[in-house]
Amino acid sequence: MSEKSGSLSITSENIFPVIKKWLYSDHDIFYRELVSNACDAITKREKLGMMGETELPDDYKGKVTVEVDPEKKTIKITDNGIGMTEDEVDKYINQIAFSGATDFLEKYKDKGSDDQIIGHFGLGFYSAFMVADLVYIDSLSYQDGAKAVHWECDGGTDYTMKDGDKDTVGTTITLFLNDDCLEFANEYKAREVLDKYCSFMPTEIYLNKANAPEEYEEIDPADKKDTDKVVEEIHKEAEYEDKKKDDGTTEKVLKTPAKDKLKIVKRPVPINDIHPLWTKTPSECSEEEYKDFYRKVFMDYREPLFWIHLNMDYPFNLKGIIYFPKINSEYDSIEGTIKLYNNQVFVADNIKEVIPEYFMLLKGVIDCPDLPLNVSRSALQNDGFVTKIRDYISKKVADKLIGMEKTEKETYEKYWDDISPFIKYGCLKDEKFCDKMNDYILFKDINDKYVTLPELLEKDAASHKSEDEKAEGESEEKKDETEKKEEKSDEPVKEEDKTAIYYVTDVKQQGQYIDMFKANDMDAVILDRTIDTSFITQLEHRNQHYRFLRIDADISKALSEKTDPKELEDEQKTLEEIFKNELKKDDLTIKVEKLKTEDIAAVIGRDENMRRMNDMMKMYQMNGGDISDFSGPETLVLNVTHPLVKYLNDNKDSENAGLIAHQLYDLAELSNQPLAPAEMSEFVKRSNQIMELLTK
Ligand code: ADP
Repeated sequence: MSEKSGSLSITSENIFPVIKKWLYSDHDIFYRELVSNACDAITKREKLGMMGETELPDDYKGKVTVEVDPEKKTIKITDNGIGMTEDEVDKYINQIAFSGATDFLEKYKDKGSDDQIIGHFGLGFYSAFMVADLVYIDSLSYQDGAKAVHWECDGGTDYTMKDGDKDTVGTTITLFLNDDCLEFANEYKAREVLDKYCSFMPTEIYLNKANAPEEYEEIDPADKKDTDKVVEEIHKEAEYEDKKKDDGTTEKVLKTPAKDKLKIVKRPVPINDIHPLWTKTPSECSEEEYKDFYRKVFMDYREPLFWIHLNMDYPFNLKGIIYFPKINSEYDSIEGTIKLYNNQVFVADNIKEVIPEYFMLLKGVIDCPDLPLNVSRSALQNDGFVTKIRDYISKKVADKLIGMEKTEKETYEKYWDDISPFIKYGCLKDEKFCDKMNDYILFKDINDKYVTLPELLEKDAASHKSEDEKAEGESEEKKDETEKKEEKSDEPVKEEDKTAIYYVTDVKQQGQYIDMFKANDMDAVILDRTIDTSFITQLEHRNQHYRFLRIDADISKALSEKTDPKELEDEQKTLEEIFKNELKKDDLTIKVEKLKTEDIAAVIGRDENMRRMNDMMKMYQMNGGDISDFSGPETLVLNVTHPLVKYLNDNKDSENAGLIAHQLYDLAELSNQPLAPAEMSEFVKRSNQIMELLTK
């Protein structure tokens, strides 16, 4: 071929400054683009070989070599794929690629900043000009009688093309780096970038440094492969040592036998794993392999709890492994990573448009070749197909969890405390996930048993059943109960008609209430994570037939004997007067009740809604807000069956009435939360005073 030069078929004046500017933020992706082109070329050649279109050399093995040369400031990417003829370079490089690039720029010219764009830009090969001032292509096509071609372009709009001297089938791309990008010729930087993007590409990739001194290794002659370059044959003589015999003389005994070794040029090790675990079928993978893969990819040396292997071909192609990491702390400190791949080519971490947001707490890989990644992120967000993928991933995870609850209950319970923040977060973020998981969310109760929501409601319904109801048909009753739960009417359900689910937020602090509940054979569940307040609020929104009440929210409802409203009228009046006068707390409500237990004189009750709001505010305050604390109105429930309360009621003019009232109130407070410093010293002083009375 005579030398040919020409102008690249593009419309814009000079595309390169634009490429550089647009893609500035992650210009290391040129490695990904060029290496994946090289892998593609190899896959194509292998396919042609398989179809009998071309004859592959006997020992053919696809291989990509990246050679960095910091001195010459070059990077060479060589493959033994199909190569290109002059016509093909003209068609694919001079015309097609550029039209792809110009289309792209046309389309997204006005769409804001570069970080909105991900993945394959259709720029492919031309991303080389983000880092290089001059680029060569040297290629020899697999086709019979093909001539080698050399192409070069210095980043302007002109190129030259002439006969080349490449004598093996395949392509070498040479980049002459510009001075701002020399780091990419550094071996360690190159390895880092290749690790990031190319770790799982489907062809072996090797990284070399030009003129690096040869490295050697010693092997057993029996292990020698044809490809090994032998540098030296080594014979190691046998070694002996002296050993003392019983009669005092010494003899020589064999320590290591004579052996032959071969010194060979160190065998190159590919930087990638061409068969990543997710490409295998789940039945082929062992537990150890899943754990190894997790350790290697996420550098997390703690074992994952369990994992879900996604594997589907229809209606779209999607494979991946999602791991549930072990977590001990609150959900807000968990940070996961979901790596997205496109045909084993890394695209990016945590693309929230594709991966359900709550998955960001997990760790995993997802490979979806069908994703339209040549569009902006905002376009992904509104893409129906992408939404389908997201829903599918979410559904699969829910299915796995539900399956576990059904068939491996013990394992599910064992993991529950670790995975619950994730599941609850998922429920908050994704209505469909919540629908699916609703009946499989576990609640740990005050007896350390795990119960599901339906079990909890059933239990509660059973314990509230009156004696004559119990006489009625059991199954009939159950049916009604579920029907009632499922019916969705627009009419708001009255608070008092809702089934109450009692819960504990702090087992120690609310110990007194827990004891009362236990003594009365009542149940409550433990909800002690930060996320729980939002979570139960959401459950209540979804189903009006129950409500969550903290164990101290409505003591009288939970633990009082049913009494005629008139029955305690006098006591109420007397005691209210004493406590109001003595404590002088305007927002304190006094309520006289007949509690089912005689051991407790007084307990504090807190309004559920106010308390929850307060908790939420505290949470935000912790996150940097500035909202001062308020604890909301309290109710002091006085138990008339207790001797002290009785005494007060019968002796309201006693000189110790004030002392008792104050002490009862403080004790009720104390079993709820620590006293403020001033109140505490008052309490200690008063306690001493009371003991002094004993000595009189
Ligand atoms: P894309 O890879 O998205 O098609 P590129 O601009 O990266 O876009 O490449 C354009 C075309 O050039 C490829 O489709 C391929 O036909 C050809 N090509 C690029 N690199 C190579 C290579 N190393 N070997 C053979 N052909 C290549």
